[in-house]
Amino acid sequence: MRIAVVGGGITGLFAAYYLRREGADVTLFEPEPLGARSAHAAGILEPLTAYRTNTVDFLRRVWHFWWRGTCAIRSVDARWLVESARQLERPAWPGAAETLRAMGRFSIAEYARMAQEADDFGYATRGLIERFDDPVHFAAERATALDNRAVAPVEVRAAPGGAGELFFPEVGWVHTERFVERIARELAGVSVVRHRAHAVATDGSVTAAIGGGRFDGVAVCTGVTSRSLGVPLTGVRGFGWHVRVDRPPDVATIDVDRGLAVVPFADEVKVTGGWVFDLGADRRPAARILEALRGMVEIREVLGFDDGSRPCTPDGLPTVGRRERLVVANGGFRLGWSFAPALGQAAARLALGQGETVPFLARFCGGLHSGRLG
Ligand SMILES: Cc1cc2nc3c(=O)[nH]c(=O)nc-3n(C[C@H](O)[C@H](O)[C@H](O)COP(=O)(O)OP(=O)(O)OC[C@H]3O[C@@H](n4cnc5c(N)ncnc54)[C@H](O)[C@@H]3O)c2cc1C
Repeated sequence: MRIAVVGGGITGLFAAYYLRREGADVTLFEPEPLGARSAHAAGILEPLTAYRTNTVDFLRRVWHFWWRGTCAIRSVDARWLVESARQLERPAWPGAAETLRAMGRFSIAEYARMAQEADDFGYATRGLIERFDDPVHFAAERATALDNRAVAPVEVRAAPGGAGELFFPEVGWVHTERFVERIARELAGVSVVRHRAHAVATDGSVTAAIGGGRFDGVAVCTGVTSRSLGVPLTGVRGFGWHVRVDRPPDVATIDVDRGLAVVPFADEVKVTGGWVFDLGADRRPAARILEALRGMVEIREVLGFDDGSRPCTPDGLPTVGRRERLVVANGGFRLGWSFAPALGQAAARLALGQGETVPFLARFCGGLHSGRLG
């Protein structure tokens, strides 16, 4: 079967990977270097602790970030805003927790399998520390984490100078740029078109300067630009740096009240942060985020920088749906890397016409239609 994958971020790369394994004839449209818009991420794999955004708790979390200078609100998608308000504190979709857990387990197992085949992407499973300043926030998160202990084991620790720490000993991480190089090597046989797709249609058509035409299936994994196809999405931008630091931490560490992360590798450290609600591509807030990160680690040298967006649905959880030959897989939000194998596999299956959509996953795809892509 001839399948087009539109978007070569981490979701699209996994979709192309599974399609190749099924023997499909795959064309991947991506105007930038593969993975370039996903590689800024910290690469921490924690899909078992996904949280919803349509809750007062999430608004409180955003307030913490804003108060501490790591969040800004520039522009949001109007449909996403209306739908988020409509869904505020609405109970989770029946079966959502089980579906997400299964997707999380599959995703973690896939990274582990690929590392076992060849660990050329800095895969580590030494655990994650979440550090809190705010005692009320810490008490709430501690209660949730202890409730979920069977799903994601946790240890509660004191934090000198802070409210406390949660240590998740089983959480792992990957070096995002090296992972992109690895999966790109596995895409031998995929025809990569280094151009944007201007439009896609439910009959399987892709309009592009080169490589367009009619396909048996089209998997659109373009992050926030998929909103023009009737999926309510907004983007929360952030930034990532490769740095050298004095005294790197032993394990991945998140400053939860500022939304900052530090991830150690053998030869360098990745630091990330920024919660900028913005549909544009403004990089100016990055300087302020780097300053905030300097409060977490002593940065000696900056080696590289990149930026990107967290594609967010009205409840912050992933969505995958199909209309005729058109499939959209999106909404990884703050856990796009963590869910990418499962999201990519779901997109691949639907694009091949295998199986039915899962009602929970397709919940925001009811209005999916042909259209131009941003
Ligand atoms: C600071 C920060 C830290 C993060 N840390 C983590 C983490 O530790 N763990 C984790 O799990 N997640 C993390 N994330 C989230 C994760 O990075 C995102 O959820 C993920 O990048 C989303 O991937 P995606 O492929 O769905 O979309 P994107 O990364 O947005 O990729 C979409 C791709 O589609 C392409 N595209 C767009 N329009 C078109 C078009 N018309 N034609 C062709 N191609 C097109 C773009 O160029 C891009 O390459 C972090 C995010 C941020 C901002």
